[in-house]
Amino acid sequence: MNSGFPKAILFDLDDTILCYGSPTACWRGVCGTYATQIGDIEPDTVLEAIDTYRRWYWSDPERHRRGRLNLMMARREMVAGAFAALNLDNPDLAVTMADAFSLQREAGLKPFEGAVETLCQLRAQGVRLALITNGAAQPQRDKVTQHKLTDYFDCIIIEGEFGCGKPDEKVYLHAMEQLQVAPHETWMVGDNLEWEVEAPQRLGIFSIWMDAMRTGLPKDSAVQPDRIILSITELLEGIELTNTQGLPQHKPAVAAARV
Ligand SMILES: [Mg+2]
Repeated sequence: MNSGFPKAILFDLDDTILCYGSPTACWRGVCGTYATQIGDIEPDTVLEAIDTYRRWYWSDPERHRRGRLNLMMARREMVAGAFAALNLDNPDLAVTMADAFSLQREAGLKPFEGAVETLCQLRAQGVRLALITNGAAQPQRDKVTQHKLTDYFDCIIIEGEFGCGKPDEKVYLHAMEQLQVAPHETWMVGDNLEWEVEAPQRLGIFSIWMDAMRTGLPKDSAVQPDRIILSITELLEGIELTNTQGLPQHKPAVAAARV
């Protein structure tokens, strides 16, 4: 093994390798698009109500688990909740707006700049790679396939396929078992402080927080990452790469049109 790299790295998918961007920006676009149908209420007021409702929605671990396993329904529930808070009685419009958000959110998904090339280099250096992603089986598997990520990983764990997700320690243990590595030989990289830092740290895994949104660590954060990066390309910085011959060729995925 080349010095500087661990034997294995466990990667998160969404907002670590694939970039969704700001959900608020996407909701703002949807509220603007449907402004005339909303009526007298300002689009920004609707946006604020959706933001308030979705923050409440995702704040509860069990509600979060149910929601991420059926994102389309969760988003419909969020807009309906926001409409209720505004005394806005238009259930059909709530569904339309939620579904418009789902379409736009998925259509805008793409790998972060340099992310695929970084995976490629890590593999060329002999680092064993696993992907651990929460969410429903089919949508998460589709994302991996559409962006041609399958071949970069020795092990892919999707919550909806595996039966449980992060932060259950079973997923990290299973990944390390598949890669035949111990925690002290392993890094975890991801944007969720609970799932990709706190839980793996409890197992002795070196945990790297991905701050792609550049928000910085919350001031009152009880979770302290072992390292903070703004892009996974930083994993290669300061390390002399060897064996760069014969790197697998990657063709950028074309965003699939969704109808
Ligand atoms: Mg993530």
